[in-house]
Amino acid sequence: MKVIGTVEGTKEILNRYPFVFKKKFGQNFLINPHTLDKIIEAADISEDDCIIEIGPGIGCVTQQLLSKAGKVIAIEIDNNLIPILEDNFGDCPNFTLINDDVLKVDLHQLIREQAQGKNIKVVANLPYYITTPIIMMLLENQLDLETITVMVQKEVALRMDAQPGTKQYGAITVALNYYTSSYLVTNVSRHCFMPSPNVDSAVIQFKLHDKPPVDVKDERLLFQIIKAAFAQRRKTLLNTLFARGGLNIPKDELKTILDESGIGASVRGETLSLEEFAVLTNIIWDYQNKS
Ligand code: SAM
Repeated sequence: MKVIGTVEGTKEILNRYPFVFKKKFGQNFLINPHTLDKIIEAADISEDDCIIEIGPGIGCVTQQLLSKAGKVIAIEIDNNLIPILEDNFGDCPNFTLINDDVLKVDLHQLIREQAQGKNIKVVANLPYYITTPIIMMLLENQLDLETITVMVQKEVALRMDAQPGTKQYGAITVALNYYTSSYLVTNVSRHCFMPSPNVDSAVIQFKLHDKPPVDVKDERLLFQIIKAAFAQRRKTLLNTLFARGGLNIPKDELKTILDESGIGASVRGETLSLEEFAVLTNIIWDYQNKS
C-alpha cells in the first residue's frame, strides 16, 4: 500500500471515497512524512507495545504504527472515516478500530480486553478543540500508560511546558508536572496538514511518573487549590484562594497559613511551583483535619 501521510497518498484516498472534511472534529490530516517519522521515532514502538491512537483520520499515523506495534487500537469519532480505515487496515491482525468519542470510551475495559499485557502508549495527532480534556482524561483515569506522544497546537505545547510566573504557566502545566515529565519533540508548520489550519503545531511527549514527584495528603485538595490559584490570575493568592478555593477557612486564618508556609499571602498563584502547591496543600489539609 502507498504511504498515506504524503500529499499524493492523502489525495489518492480522498479521491476514492466520498469523504468531506468536518471542521467540528478538528480534521487536519498530516501530509508530511518527515514529521510522521519524528512522531514514530519519539514513540519508540516495538512488538511489546499496544498503541492507543486517538483520531486516526484516514490512517496516516495508523499505517506506521501497524508496521511496528504488537497491537494498535484506533478510536475515531467520525462514522465516515470508518469504511476507509476498515478497507485499508481491516486485514491487519494487530488492528482494532473503535467508532466512538474517545471521551466516552471505557479505556480501562478496552485495555483489559485488548492490550494482551503489552505496554500501553498513546500516540495521536489530537483534534485541537478537545486537546486538554483528552490529556487530562488520560492522566486522571490512571490508565497505567507508559508515554503519551501527541501533536497539539503550538501555543498549547508552550503552556504545557511553561515555567512558573510566565504568561503561559497555568493549572494544566502544574497538573502535567504532577503526572508526567515532558519534552518537546518537534515544532510542526501549519503547512504540514491538509487542510492547513491557521495555527502552527508541535509534537510533545509525556512520560508518566511511576510515582508523583511530590507527596500530598489529599490529591483532590491539591487540584482544588491549583484550580483556585489560577482562577483569578491578577489577584493575590490569598484573595483568589479565599474567593474561589471552597476551603471554608476564615480570611485572617488563611493569611496566617500562607505566611507561615513561607509562600506568603501577597504572591500571585501563578508563581507557585508544583512543590509549593504540595506544601500548601499539606498545611491546609492539616488545618482542616485538626481535631
Ligand atoms: N491522525 C490523523 C492524521 O494525523 O492525519 C487525523 C488527525 S485529525 C487532527 C483529528 C482526528 O480526530 C480526526 O480524524 C477526527 O475525526 C478525530 N476526532 C475528533 N474528535 C474526536 C473524539 N472526540 N474522539 C475520537 N476521535 C476524534
